[in-house]
Amino acid sequence: MTPPEPAAGAPLTPPEAATRHDFIRQIVRDDLAAGRHASIRTRFPPEPNGYLHIGHAKAICLDFGIAREFGGVCNLRFDDTNPAREDPEFVRAIQDDVRWLGFEWAELRHASDYFEVYVLAAEKLIRQGDAFVCDLTAEQVREYRGSLTEPGRNSPFRGRSVEENLDLFARMRAGEFADGARTLRAKIDMASGNINLRDPALYRIKHMPHPIAGAGWCVYPMYDFAHSLGDAIEGITHSLCTLEFEDHRPLYDWCVDRVDLAGSPELLAPLLARGLPNEAAKPRQIEFSRLNINYTVMSKRKLVALVGEGLVEGWDDPRMPTLQGLRRRGYTPSALRLFVDRVGISKQNSTIDFSVLEGALREDLDARAPRRMAVVDPLKLVLANLPQGHAETLAFSNHPKDESFGTREVPFSRELWIEREDFAEVPPKGWKRLVPGGEVRLRGAGIARVDEVVKDEAGNIVELRGWLDPDSRPGMDGANRKVKGTIHWVSAAHAVEAEVRLYDRLFSEADPDDEGEGRSYRDHLNPDSKRTVRGYVEPAAAAAAPETAFQFERLGYFVADRRDHRADAPVFNRSVSLRDTWAAKA
Ligand code: ATP
Ligand code: MG
Repeated sequence: MTPPEPAAGAPLTPPEAATRHDFIRQIVRDDLAAGRHASIRTRFPPEPNGYLHIGHAKAICLDFGIAREFGGVCNLRFDDTNPAREDPEFVRAIQDDVRWLGFEWAELRHASDYFEVYVLAAEKLIRQGDAFVCDLTAEQVREYRGSLTEPGRNSPFRGRSVEENLDLFARMRAGEFADGARTLRAKIDMASGNINLRDPALYRIKHMPHPIAGAGWCVYPMYDFAHSLGDAIEGITHSLCTLEFEDHRPLYDWCVDRVDLAGSPELLAPLLARGLPNEAAKPRQIEFSRLNINYTVMSKRKLVALVGEGLVEGWDDPRMPTLQGLRRRGYTPSALRLFVDRVGISKQNSTIDFSVLEGALREDLDARAPRRMAVVDPLKLVLANLPQGHAETLAFSNHPKDESFGTREVPFSRELWIEREDFAEVPPKGWKRLVPGGEVRLRGAGIARVDEVVKDEAGNIVELRGWLDPDSRPGMDGANRKVKGTIHWVSAAHAVEAEVRLYDRLFSEADPDDEGEGRSYRDHLNPDSKRTVRGYVEPAAAAAAPETAFQFERLGYFVADRRDHRADAPVFNRSVSLRDTWAAKA
């Protein structure tokens, strides 16, 4: 079994405990030192409209990681303000993924928990003269908004009285108006250089029941309003998000300041009535750069299309950059955390090389995955000098660098499967493996020689017949005799036939998002990203539980498939090869 992950919330162990130094953690440190907060509160706010991907892992490790490192808490908050796009399947999967990554939320919240507070807040803004109901159509709103070079124009409805606005807003909520007929807008500044401040919409009408809040709702809050107030309600101290929200920060601050939840506890009454604790404080939004990785697409739209168009075999296809896909591929939570640590946190947009992700997995599994033998392209080798029916067991250590992994018994017999590519009739220069008449070390078993190459009528090699040096057996004097190469093998009589899925990168272009020359990411798919073969694994690999990771010697790191693997019908996925084979291609 793969050694267990540290339990969620457990004290960090190296290398995780190594102090991380990025600009956000510095801000947090400074804030704590200055006594600005009694404790740190963060949140991770996914929209439940898709599965989480590796980019989200960066946000999760940051939001939950900072809370953990500084003795604070992190909430999981579903941003469920758009009922049209939500699905309970995503809600379940997201919770699964966060826990799998090794984190636990202090509280599970939904933006919809705060719908009543948002309405009270909107009414407060109206009363303050900070919001108005606007009858412009979406198209007119666009016309009035102006551009980066042109100021916008005030809506003709901007001067409505508080009473009229309160009345119209109440009627919007009562369902009197059609979708899109009216909006509630903030009254800020149509001439602002920041277009986000040009009287942005706070509420829109959408006649659609909400999966949690119920059928009574037909107005829904816009992201900036709901998100900033959600943070304030929960007493989030540091609201961490990606750089594209930088231009929204003035609006975020405007909402927090004008609504002033901390100074208006009456607005929180609906929450107290429902037993939802809250802290009401002034949150600070801090932006960091998104994670981008080459040879990958991360846009939800494209991930949906890959699944919808059958270009992959589902959301958890091992080639997908979703956390469910990476998990099925054999990525471990610790490898992903290591990767996120390596990438670091900054405000600089960049694209990380896919090999950094693969490197983190190799490093993690090198330390954590027991070794096994498997053959993915089998060729029979008969050791003709051993008696018919000869069989024995050999003791193999499970890990070359870590004795705590113990040993296992590996059956050995007269007939073995070896890798077809470990034999060459006409060897290329520098060849170190089997040739007719040549010798090779059979890993842990002795030194073998090939005497006869058996072919079928078409000239294909079907079997090798050879000789095992009786003086080269484990523990004997000749065991250390020098031979050129070492190959792996499994005993044909004992090995278990297995389906082996040899995965590679999903895209063969470094930038699959490149839409130049009328192409799309569909044209950049790697035709060799999945190859399924029948191979043989030693019994101790077949018997493993699903999701157990191994290094198959000389082949790579593999994982017993989470869904399809059975001891009597093993299925292994190649998680990553032993070496980076793409560096040379690039
Ligand atoms: P959408 O395309 O629907 O806006 P999204 O990728 O922004 O999707 P959310 O569910 O809104 O998805 O994301 C939740 C959190 O994860 C946000 O705080 C967002 O900033 C962060 N996040 C999303 N993608 C990345 C990424 N590539 N790198 C780092 N953080 C990300
Ligand atoms: Mg988003």
